[in-house]
Amino acid sequence: MRQYKAEIVAVGTELLLGQIANTNAQWLSQQLAMYGINVYNHAVVGDNLQRVEEAFRLAQNRSDMIIVTGGLGPTEDDLTREAFQLISKMELVEDKQSMEKIELFFKNQNRTMTPNNRKQARVFKGCTVLKNNAGMAPGMKVELEGKTWFFLPGVPREMKQIAGEKIFPSIKELTGSNQIIKSLVLKFIGIGESTLEHKLKDLIQAQTNPTIAPLAQEDGVVIRLTAKEDSEADLDSLLNNTKTEILDRVGNYYFGEDEQVIEQVIVQLLANQNKKVAAAESLTGGMFTEKIVSVDGASAVCPGGIVCYDAKIKRDVLGVSAETIGSKGTVSEECALEMAENVRRLFGSHVGIAFTGVAGPTETEGKPVGEVFISISDGSGYQKVERFLFAGNRDSIRKRACVKGLEMIFNYLK
Ligand code: ATP
Ligand code: MG
Repeated sequence: MRQYKAEIVAVGTELLLGQIANTNAQWLSQQLAMYGINVYNHAVVGDNLQRVEEAFRLAQNRSDMIIVTGGLGPTEDDLTREAFQLISKMELVEDKQSMEKIELFFKNQNRTMTPNNRKQARVFKGCTVLKNNAGMAPGMKVELEGKTWFFLPGVPREMKQIAGEKIFPSIKELTGSNQIIKSLVLKFIGIGESTLEHKLKDLIQAQTNPTIAPLAQEDGVVIRLTAKEDSEADLDSLLNNTKTEILDRVGNYYFGEDEQVIEQVIVQLLANQNKKVAAAESLTGGMFTEKIVSVDGASAVCPGGIVCYDAKIKRDVLGVSAETIGSKGTVSEECALEMAENVRRLFGSHVGIAFTGVAGPTETEGKPVGEVFISISDGSGYQKVERFLFAGNRDSIRKRACVKGLEMIFNYLK
């Protein structure tokens, strides 16, 4: 069977200017995927009659189902109807129900209705009017030369309401297919995207169902598995089999799936092992502790932490020896180790972690930008310190240090 192709056209200059993100297209795509509809194109076009017309003509030619959002409102720059009229030659008529609703709205608000508001009640003759329960301009379903068009308001709340009530429930009739799509995201830390890809190369190359897509993220690497099947049960077994195959090879770096983040897993591990962690943070300035504290239940596993940016604070508050600071410097293995052990004792936790390094832009104590030491120390005598040389600007060096610290704690706990 020929693929049924869907397209989403978002109308609005704001989108092109980057003033707002195209969350309508994102949401619609996610929803359509769940109904097994392949979205082949996203188009974004400004509030310009000729260009909207062009975008519509292109969509009519290449897609089977087109969902348009935006440009249905009362103002001059709302041009969706006019543009579609140019390609369809369809007549616009006033929808009585919608007009009554608009009039009632103004009456209830004690406001006079300006004439341009009538525009919102205009619909294509013979279309299916999709009632807008969240706003004024109704949506429309229009058939044009074998293609199905849906017109929805730009306001996300209204768009979602109409799509949810009027489009998705009848979608299978449009495509004649019963397939559903489901994704599973596997998350990894401590392995680079290219290494991961290398280890899974043959699997990725042979992929068809599910598809396997690795993707680097700020706090690790994810693999998105996407499968297509007729039933939920088939989908789950397909996804689980592939997951097992992947974890057989790179399970060492795996920490969770879908929405899970590494700090949640760490808090869970700490809680299970009845341990607490405290951090002494120099260049990360509290980022690590912030991550931990952002998780529900952090209070049981994190008594606090200290931001010890200046050498004087490292010495006077955290108790790093003047000798270490004097002879080795604050950016050193020795200093990191003392910081981790001292913060552990100071806060009465089982584990201490410390971050010290040069975030840049200029070198410190003769140490290069990006040099970072991270140390872990626990009450049973475990001590570890690692040296890193991170590339990038101040912001990325600090973030990488924090992620490395999360990775080290995760590895220590598991
Ligand atoms: P209105 O009746 O409010 O004028 P409309 O159908 O004419 O609705 P637009 O004027 O294009 O829609 O957009 C209204 C608002 O909805 C925008 O200011 C913006 O905040 C939001 N919006 C529009 N398009 C999108 C989109 N693609 N993604 C996210 N938000 C959007
Ligand atoms: Mg508008």
